[in-house]
Amino acid sequence: MRIATICAMATAMALVSGTAWAQNAATAGLNAAATSATCPGNPEPLGVARTVEIDTTGGPGFGFAQFKAYDFLRDSEVVLTFDDGPWPGNTPAVLKALAAQCTKAVFFPIGKHAMWHPEILKQVAAGGHTIGSHTWSHLDLSKLPPDQAKDEIEKGMSAVRSALGTPEAPLFRFPDLRHSPELLAYLGTRNVGIFSTDVDSFDYRTHKPEAVIASVMTKLKKSGKGIVLMHDFQHSTALALPELLVALKAGGYKIVQVKTKEPVTTLAAYDQQLEKELGGQTANLRAISNVVRTIDAPNFNDRFSAIR
Ligand SMILES: [Zn+2]
Repeated sequence: MRIATICAMATAMALVSGTAWAQNAATAGLNAAATSATCPGNPEPLGVARTVEIDTTGGPGFGFAQFKAYDFLRDSEVVLTFDDGPWPGNTPAVLKALAAQCTKAVFFPIGKHAMWHPEILKQVAAGGHTIGSHTWSHLDLSKLPPDQAKDEIEKGMSAVRSALGTPEAPLFRFPDLRHSPELLAYLGTRNVGIFSTDVDSFDYRTHKPEAVIASVMTKLKKSGKGIVLMHDFQHSTALALPELLVALKAGGYKIVQVKTKEPVTTLAAYDQQLEKELGGQTANLRAISNVVRTIDAPNFNDRFSAIR
C-alpha cells in the first residue's frame, strides 16, 4: 500500500508541471487587475491574487499538517476552505462575505447536508467557488472497516454531484483530518486530491466570532501562508468572516483560488444507490423549506428557524 501511495504521488508530482505553474503565474496579474476593477461597491477588495489548477491524477495531498510533498503557496498566500455545509443561514452568510470581497474559496460539503439543502450548495457553485466533498455522514473513516469507509467517500461524492446536478471537483477532506494509508491509496486510484490544512481555525470550539478571527490571524502570522480550515456550518465563522477578510487584506495576505483540471468521476453504483434511497427524486431537489413549511405550531421550537 505504501509503495502504491508513493508511486501515485510521484506521478502526480510529474503532472504538476512547471509549465502549468508558469501559466498560472501569468494569469495571476490579470485576475488581480480584473477583480479590483469589477468588485461592485468595494474599490479595494481582497479579491483573488492567483488561480491555480490542480491535476488530481494519483490523489496528491495538500496542507502541511499532514502532506508536505506540494508546497504550492508563496509567502502571504492563503487558500480559504470551508467544511461541513451546506447549512441554512451560515453558508449564505459566508457566501455573502466572500462576494463582498470578490474572493473565492473551496468548500467541502457533507453529502447528507447537500441532500437536505441542495439549493444552498447550488448558491455556492453560482458564487464561483470550488466544491469538493467531505463524506456522506462525517464518520471517522480511520475507525471504519475499509469497505464502509469507501462507501462513505463514494456516497458523499455522489450526493454532492446529485445536489449540484453536475460533478464537483475531485477534492476530498477527511472528517477531523483522520485518514489511513489504505484510504489515501484508494483516493489515489480514484484520482481524487486530498486537502488537509496548514492553519486550523478550530472555529467549532468557540461561539465567539472574535476568537475565530484571532485564531486564524495568529496562526497565519506564524506560518506566513497556508490553507486555512474553517466551517461554513459554524455560526461563529459566518459572523466572523466579514471582519476576518478585512483583516487578511490589511495584513497583506493574498487569496489563491484553487481549481481542478477535471471534474470528479462518481461511480454509477453509488449514484444509483442514492437515487434509490431517495425514491428516484434526486433530479429536481428543492429546499425542504420550499416543499414543506410549518404554518402553525404554537409550542414547537424550530431550531433551524432560530439559526436563520
Ligand atoms: Zn468536517
